[in-house]
Formats: sequence, C-alpha cells, structure tokens
Amino acid sequence: MTQKEIYALPNIITPNTPVIFNPEICNGCNTCVEVCQVDVFIPNPVEGKPPVILHPDECWYGGCCVNECPNPGAISFNWPIQQRGYWKDKETGQILRDSY
Ligand code: SF4
Ligand code: SF4
Repeated sequence: MTQKEIYALPNIITPNTPVIFNPEICNGCNTCVEVCQVDVFIPNPVEGKPPVILHPDECWYGGCCVNECPNPGAISFNWPIQQRGYWKDKETGQILRDSY
C-alpha cells in the first residue's frame, strides 16, 4: 500500500478553544483524543506533547475528554460564556455546579 502524507491545519477562521491543556502536566497519552466522539483533537505529531485542537467548533462540552484524562490538571474546560452559569443553595451556600 502506498503511504500518503496528510496535512492537518487547526481551524483558523474561528479559533475557539473548548479545552485548555496544561503542557506541564499533559504527557500526550491521547486518551482524550480517543474518547472524543466528534474528533475535536488529533494526536500531536511530537510525542509526549498535548493533542492538537483541530475542530473546536464541533465540541459538545459533554466532558469525556476531561473526565477520562488520567492526569488531573492536564486538561480543563474553557466554557463558552453562555454556559458559565452555576446554581447555589441559598441556605447552605453550596455551589451545585461549579466550573469544571
Ligand atoms: S488524556 Fe490528559 S494527559 Fe492524556 S493527552 Fe489528553 S490531556 Fe494529555
Ligand atoms: S467535551 Fe466532548 S466533544 Fe468536546 S472535546 Fe471533549 S470529548 Fe470532545
């Protein structure tokens, strides 16, 4: 089979960032790449580096990538402004949905 060279360019028209990687913690294991059902990421061509966000506008903010990451702090949500609401119990002050 002939080998083909493939080029992948991040979305430069609407450069959203649905998640933020911490390159100090992320070891490039690509678990987040595998669990994302809409292929927001691709593996970084440099081994050990955080994945490349290729299709940011496809993100549904379901959370699989953040929840399945084996290295806490390596990836976090960057919620769109309209999804940053939270709820607080008036009596206890408990925040029922905090930012992830
Ligand atoms: S799952 Fe976590 S550690 Fe692995 S590549 Fe994704 S962000 Fe990095
Ligand atoms: S939140 Fe869901 S859709 Fe968005 S990047 Fe993570 S796994 Fe993919």
